[in-house]
Order: sequence, then C-alpha cells, then structure tokens
Amino acid sequence: MSNWVLVVNCGSSSVKFALVDPESGNESFHGIAERLGQGSQAGEITYQYGDEKERHSLPDGKHEQALADIVEKLHSLGWLEQVVAVGHRVVHGGEYFSDSVRIDENVRDKIADCIRLAPLHNPAHVIGIDAAKAAFPDLPQVAVFDTAFHQYMPEHAYLYALPYEMYREHGIRRYGFHGTSFRYVAVRTQTLLDNANAKLVIAHLGNGGSVAAVDGEHSLDTTMGLTPLEGLVHGTRSGDIDPAIPYLLTEQFAMDAKAVNDMLWKESGLLGLSELSNDCRTLEQAMDEGNEAAKRALDVYIYRLAKHIAGQMVALGGTDALVFTGGIGENSSYVRAEVVKLLAFMGFALDSAKNEATNRGAEANIASAQSRPVWVVPTNEELMIARDTVRLMEQG
Ligand code: AMP
Repeated sequence: MSNWVLVVNCGSSSVKFALVDPESGNESFHGIAERLGQGSQAGEITYQYGDEKERHSLPDGKHEQALADIVEKLHSLGWLEQVVAVGHRVVHGGEYFSDSVRIDENVRDKIADCIRLAPLHNPAHVIGIDAAKAAFPDLPQVAVFDTAFHQYMPEHAYLYALPYEMYREHGIRRYGFHGTSFRYVAVRTQTLLDNANAKLVIAHLGNGGSVAAVDGEHSLDTTMGLTPLEGLVHGTRSGDIDPAIPYLLTEQFAMDAKAVNDMLWKESGLLGLSELSNDCRTLEQAMDEGNEAAKRALDVYIYRLAKHIAGQMVALGGTDALVFTGGIGENSSYVRAEVVKLLAFMGFALDSAKNEATNRGAEANIASAQSRPVWVVPTNEELMIARDTVRLMEQG
C-alpha cells in the first residue's frame, strides 16, 4: 500500500496533476486538463501512467469535471485508496502565509482575499480547492504557496518607495515567487554542501525567472515583486523597466491600460527582444546560425541576470554557492557560461567540460578548481508540495 499525494496546480484554463510518492519522488501518474472554463466549449484531459498515454474530452469544460474525471480514472486503475491527501500549488498567499497550511474554510477565504494581489492565478486556485473538496471529500487538502518562502524578507527588501499608505492600506509590497522551487533547491544544495546554514544565491530560470538570496532556511531578498513581472528578463515578460514607460505608452500611443499590460506580460522579454521566440533553446540555435536578433535577446537576458545575481549577494554579504535551476538553468550551458564570465570579478569561474556535460536533470558542481562553488541542482516543486502535505498531515 502506497501513500501517494495528488499534487494539483489549477490555472485559469488548466489543471496540471501528478500522483507523487513523497518518499521517493516517483510520479506514477500525471497529466493535464486543458481548455477549461471557456464557456460552453469542451475541455480535454490527458493522462500519462506507465507507458500509457490517454486523452479524452470533458464536455462541460469545467474544473469540477476535470477533478471528478481524475477520481474516476484513479478508481478504475485501483489507485484511489492509495491517495492520502491533495496538495495544491497556490501562487499568492499575501502576508497571511509564511508556510504551507492545511486548508479549512478560513484558509480558503484568505486565498480568495489574495485574488486582489494575483487576479490571474488565485481565482483558479479557489475553484480548484472547491472542486478537489467535492471530488475527494474525505481527504486532507494542503496549500503550498509560491510566496511563503519569501515572507521572512526584511522590510527594507520588501517595501517599494511609494507612499507608505500603499503598503499599509493595500498590501502593495514585494512578495517574491518560485518559493517552493527555491526551498527545494536550497535544502538539496545545503545537503550537497553538508552545511544547513549555507548562504546561497539561487537562479531559477524557466519561462519566468527569478533569483533569491537564501540564508540558511530563509529568503532575504528576491527579484520578483508584487507580481512575477518584476526583475529578470522572462520568456514573454519584460522584467524591470522604467516605471514611467506604461504612462508614456498610454499618452503617446493611445494604448489603453490592458494593451500596455498585455505588452508587458505577453509580448516582451526574450520574445519581444528577438521578435522570434520566447524559447531559450530556439534562440540559442538561431544565434548559432547567425541570427542577430536572437543574440541581442540573449545578451540582454544574460547581462540583466548577472546584475541581479550580484545584487542578491548584497542581501547575504557574500555567498557559499551560486546555484542554477529551472529549464534554462538546468540545461543551458551557454547561459551559465556567459553569466559566470560576467561574475568573474567575484571569484566565479566554470570548468567548461563540466558545464557542457551538465543537463537533463543532472546535479553537479560545475565550478573550476579555483572558483567559488557553482552548482546546477534540478528543481522538483511537485515533490516539495507532496512532502509539505505529508508533514502537515502528520502534524494533525
Ligand atoms: P521551465 O519553465 O522551467 O520549463 O523552462 C522553460 C525554458 O527552459 C524554455 O525557455 C526552454 O527553452 C528552456 N530550455 C529547456 N531545455 C533547454 C536547453 N537544452 N537549452 C536551453 N534552454 C532550454
């Protein structure tokens, strides 16, 4: 008999799910329901388990139907009884949550209150929590927040220099994201370094990217802010820009607020700069074939990343290791090599053979013999969510 956790990530039009063994991290069953919540349109659900891949339509196209379908599928496979809890990924916990929690009415209401801070993500989490409760009425449900790990940031790191009332009355401050990934990677790296108090600068580089300064158990600063738009150049998001730009665009180009917002979130970043793709792999290949726009996008990405890594060192007064994770951090030897070249003045240098050889889930110190440690540590947010879920169940 296994004790599996169903890890659920509800987005506005999708539900990603995985059955995770919290001991080994094995994912025996996973999949995605897509095109949900689009009025009368049907959705679709895909299951993967063993060598099987199966897809069928969800006529109602609702999150509730997706969760009910998962229950039915698990039942037909004879695995339903082995699911002991549901762990939800929740993007925004505001200032309410500095750790994961068992979900009750009060917690659900606080997640709903955080919709004002994350209007794109939290509404779907509330729908997902309600749907999972209906589908698994007897199972404990746990919420694991992207923001929780950063709740120990000091005031000087989380305040914007806006009228203080914006923070006091409306909670406008820096929260940070990718906390579940940072926590997993921090613990794993500290184990590898045999130092639970190690100071780490971790760069989580995926389609969205952020860097965090981790001192032992806590994050002291990070590059994302009120939303996941701030900081690094992302796949389609701008990252840092002069805050005067949005007003200037509305004034001079008659763009409305939504058009500006869409530009910053969906048409900028690597995609906007390259006019080609938001995908780092595609850009590296194009650059190798002589595409200058791809090179321009990667140059901006790498320079901004190096500046932010150096900036995060200020929060820690140095670091015991620099760590790369996320799709780009784990796989792009080019990005890692170029970023570390810009950080040579801080005592970092790569062993190029080790750097080239480290990808696809490999874990390694890729620094040269003279350098301070530079690690690649693959992240595993699902496993972290499953482990938190079990920890909270055991606490009762
Ligand atoms: P994630 O959001 O963590 O799944 O990361 C997605 C990003 O990782 C995309 O920009 C991918 O192009 C990038 N990525 C994945 N594999 C590679 C690779 N081998 N080289 C460069 N970038 C990669």
